[in-house]
Parts: sequence; C-alpha cells; structure tokens
Amino acid sequence: MTNISILGCTGSIGRSTLSVVRSLKDRFSVSALAAGRDLDGLAKQVAEFAPTLVSISDERDIPVLREKLSGAGIKNLPEIVHGQEGLIAVACHDDAEIVISATVGAVGFLPTYRALKLGRRVCLANKETLVMAGELMTKAARESNAELLPVDSEHNALHQCMRGEHKSELKRLILTASGGPFREASLEAITKASVEQALAHPTWQMGAKITIDSATLMNKGLEVIEAGWLFDMSADRITVAVHPQSIVHSMIELIDGSIIAQLGVTDMRLMIQYALTFPERLPTDLPALGIDSLSKLEFHEPDLIRFPCLKLAYDAMKEGGTMPAAMSAANEIAVAAFLSKSIGFMDISRVIANTMEAHETESASSLEAVVEADRWAREYAEGRLKGRG
Ligand code: MG
Repeated sequence: MTNISILGCTGSIGRSTLSVVRSLKDRFSVSALAAGRDLDGLAKQVAEFAPTLVSISDERDIPVLREKLSGAGIKNLPEIVHGQEGLIAVACHDDAEIVISATVGAVGFLPTYRALKLGRRVCLANKETLVMAGELMTKAARESNAELLPVDSEHNALHQCMRGEHKSELKRLILTASGGPFREASLEAITKASVEQALAHPTWQMGAKITIDSATLMNKGLEVIEAGWLFDMSADRITVAVHPQSIVHSMIELIDGSIIAQLGVTDMRLMIQYALTFPERLPTDLPALGIDSLSKLEFHEPDLIRFPCLKLAYDAMKEGGTMPAAMSAANEIAVAAFLSKSIGFMDISRVIANTMEAHETESASSLEAVVEADRWAREYAEGRLKGRG
C-alpha cells in the first residue's frame, strides 16, 4: 500500500486524484489532506478516505470543521492544522510517500519544496511553484533523489513521449494549447470580455484562476517556463501550437525530424494515475479516444498581439532569475482583480508588463530572493491597481 498526501484536495485536481485513489483502493491510501475553505467538501473526503491529518487555511474554521466531522459520525478524528504551517505538515507527513501538489498559486511553493527535500515523489499540478522557483525545486529534487512527476497535461504528455528517448536526441518540445474561449475573438471583443465569458473554457473543466490564465494564454506561458525546468530546455527550444481539439496533449521533435505525440481524452485522471503509478501503467475506466475524434486535428501558431501574456512569459523566461516569480505573482494579483471585476481582460497583461518593467531581476538561487520577488511583485501590482483609482 502506498500512502499519499494531497495539497489542494477539494479543488479540481484534488478531487480527480481522490477519484483515482478510489478506483485503485488496493494500492493507494490517503495519509493527509489539505483544503482551503471548502469544509463540507473536506468533511466528506475525511469520511471516505480517513486521513490522520488535515489542514485548512483559516484557524477560525477549525471548530466548524470539528463539528462537521463529529456530526458525520467519524470515529477517529484526524488531527487538524491550519495555514502555511498546516500545508507544510501535510506535505511532510511521515507516512506519505507521494505528495500531490495541487494548490493554486504561490502558496504551494514552500510545502512542495519541503516535500522534495525529504525525497518524496511529488506529483506536480501547481505550475506556479516551478515558475517561481524552478532552480531551487529542481536542485532540491536532484539532491534528495526525489522524483518530480508532472500532472499538468502537457508536461505529463511530454514525459510520456520522452520515455525511452535520449535527451541528446531531442530537438524541441511542442506544447499544445486549446486557445481558450477567445481563440477566434477579435482584439476588440477580447478587450470587452466579461468574467463569465472568460470562465467558459471550451475543452477543460478547471478552477477559476487557471481558466482565466487559459483565456489570456498566460497558462501556456507558465507552462513553457515549467517545461524548461522539468526537461532542462531553453526558451528557443519550446514551441507553442494552438490545437483547439485538446486531443494531442503535447509533442516532442527529435533531431532526425520525427515527431512523437501523446493523445488522450481530456480527463485529468489519466495524467494523475500515470504520475501516481509511474513507471507502471494500469488500466483506467475512462472512455476510449474514438478514431472518429481524430478525423480533424488542427494546429496553428499563437497570436501574440491578442494574447500578449504568452510573449511576457517568454520574455520572463529569457531574462531568468527572479523575473518569472515576479511575473507570476503580478499575474495572480491581476487575475484576482479581473475576477472581482475591477479591471478589464486586457488590463491583466498591462499590470504584468508594468510590474516586469519595474522589477529588478536578481539571482533566484536562494529561498529569500524568490520569496522577496514574489512579495515585491504583489505589492507593486496591487499599487498599480490602486493607482487606477
Ligand atoms: Mg496544462
């Protein structure tokens, strides 16, 4: 039996992970769960999976959660912790051999880093973590021999394509992008886009932040940087191809010109199970990818005028150091402002560009530098937003 802990258990990836665990009960059990504020969702998961430790964001919610758990007739109540320390406790739980890192944004960084330092297998769904501190994370994994397995569909696909290939024979990575809800919209229409329109993703069901990131293509930009760290590739060897069908999850091109692709249904349980059971492959009960669905696969180049966030991410990657951390932090602030309807859709890229212009890049090889760049960029982006009145 392999024990796992999950950071972000009530989110989309967390729930899909538990669905995989439910289908592989004889192999996996749950040691620890960390949620945010969805106490009802967490209580149900505790009743089903019986972890010994749970964490929630806010200390004030602890009595409420305790009451819900007692009310659900759970006999062995788990220990309840909270906040950043709580996330770290879940990530570092003594019994957990695998940690699913699926929180949203920079909050997942320290817990994931600590799990890697302990040599745990980390199944990574939180891309901001690598964008912010790829150098530190990959170094921690190397030093402790921890496996860092991508859950993000594109990187999971690249990992699958790369099996059996030699790194020296690799020419470039081709990340596919659905293009989001505004793929065919005019610049004028995108400028006026509402929150509801931006949240209507055509192919994937995900949380709000990543869905907005998909609409701006910042999600793809973050993924380019993530791929750079995971596969040790420079920006000029990572290409993005818009592929509206989301069937080809990504491709690799080899030095002889061969291209290898991974195809599959758009269901994250496929990637999560791969990362949990690697190097083994097990059957799933997912629907088969019918041959009919392959009759029309389109690919084209992304438009950097309508989607400037993708270019900003490439710029940040080329600059290196703390610039990607500053960019990602500014993006979190800008997306939250858009979701609360205080700025327009195209203002997201403006806030990020302004923050990047003002950021003084430093080396990102220390924890302090990365945390400080993140803090600085949040404060700066907030200030720009307030300045708008
Ligand atoms: Mg992805």
